[in-house]
Amino acid sequence: MNQNQILFDRASKTSPGGVNSPVRAFRSVGGTPRFIKRAQDAYFWDENDVRYIDYIGSWGPIIVGHAHPNVVKAVQEAAAKGLGFGTPTRAEVEMAELLCDMLPSLEQVRLVSSGTEATMSAIRLARGFTGRDVLVKFEGCYHGHSDSLLVKAGSGLLTLGNPSSAGVPVAVSKDTLVLPYNDVDALKTLFKDKGDTLAAVILEPIAGNMNFVRARPEFMRTLRELCTEYGTVLIIDEVMTGFRVGEQCAQGVYGVQADLTTLGKVIGGGMPVAAFGGRADIMAHMAPLGGVYQAGTLSGNPVAVAAGLATLNIVRQDGFFDNLRQKTTALLAGFSAAAHDAGVPFSTEMEGGMFGLFFSNQAPQSYAEVMASRVDLFPAFFHAMLDEGVYLAPSAFEAGFMSAAHTDEDIASTIAAARKAFAAIS
Ligand code: PLP
Repeated sequence: MNQNQILFDRASKTSPGGVNSPVRAFRSVGGTPRFIKRAQDAYFWDENDVRYIDYIGSWGPIIVGHAHPNVVKAVQEAAAKGLGFGTPTRAEVEMAELLCDMLPSLEQVRLVSSGTEATMSAIRLARGFTGRDVLVKFEGCYHGHSDSLLVKAGSGLLTLGNPSSAGVPVAVSKDTLVLPYNDVDALKTLFKDKGDTLAAVILEPIAGNMNFVRARPEFMRTLRELCTEYGTVLIIDEVMTGFRVGEQCAQGVYGVQADLTTLGKVIGGGMPVAAFGGRADIMAHMAPLGGVYQAGTLSGNPVAVAAGLATLNIVRQDGFFDNLRQKTTALLAGFSAAAHDAGVPFSTEMEGGMFGLFFSNQAPQSYAEVMASRVDLFPAFFHAMLDEGVYLAPSAFEAGFMSAAHTDEDIASTIAAARKAFAAIS
């Protein structure tokens, strides 16, 4: 009896598509989603007791590996003291101090429970601070599912082949301007025409929601300069890249500081913690000090924050990212050699513990180039890997994630699986 199939059939009766988040449904790769019942280190096991080496890491958060003993202990201890109080707590203070210490552009932060809340609130704050309405985003970037951001977005919207969502009022989306990613000229032209009406620009500095497309350094520099010149708030969305691509997130990689940063995923270590923060003069506009309202019953939840603190305390140890980079580098070198030997067009990208795999001879630099790659090869590759016990994200438009728990043997087994998978699709 295939327990995954039985559960999927049951789930499909009571949940739309059988899932609680669209990409989990395997729509673009076909087949039955795996229902995972337990995870440890770099592995998880499905309801048929099949083990997989996991490169999703809960879509990014599990950077220290599944069920790390420090994180589990912290959660158990916090839970034993009560699941939530709806009051300020010591752990929240420690979390805010730690985040401000780890990321130089953060002077103040507010904790929320999801990346969507973080970006939505940061945009409201930018609008309240500037007194302007217009938001600029980039094609293929995904910033959660709030209305003004579901315009030409990435992630599940790309996977389902429709980059904009139904149900978003025209009146809302008209204040979201979308530019091509990495297009410096388009950026300059927009600011020249409309700079003093722009409340905020939001971007993924490494766009992991169209697989893996990094901003060009010149693009980041220009963006920073134009936002400063026109008084536009630069929001760097580090929900995915935050403490995933390096010690100081993508801002450290580029040497560019945000006015506001959004964080999520790793800072919760698998539990619902996210944050937005940045310049103190901007944050001072948040309620209860200022007129920009935002609130949350579960914001700063003590059990979730305990998981985040325990995770960040591992991540900030010396050598953590060097180790992660070595693992990612070794994995991608193995993939590239295997693809080359099989004659499959292939390229890779990586930063820290985040990577992209492309069926193209050169890594794409824009949404258009991602779409021009051989995404049609991905479903067969994905299933060939899954059959070999390797779990990649079930979409050609999602990044992969390495954890500190992946061993050399795991990486060698993954490369051996990739050899078979490339041979199968060549
Ligand atoms: N921003 C980025 C860059 C993301 O990758 C995501 C989720 O994948 C979000 C925002 C939304 O975060 P959440 O799914 O926690 O709402």
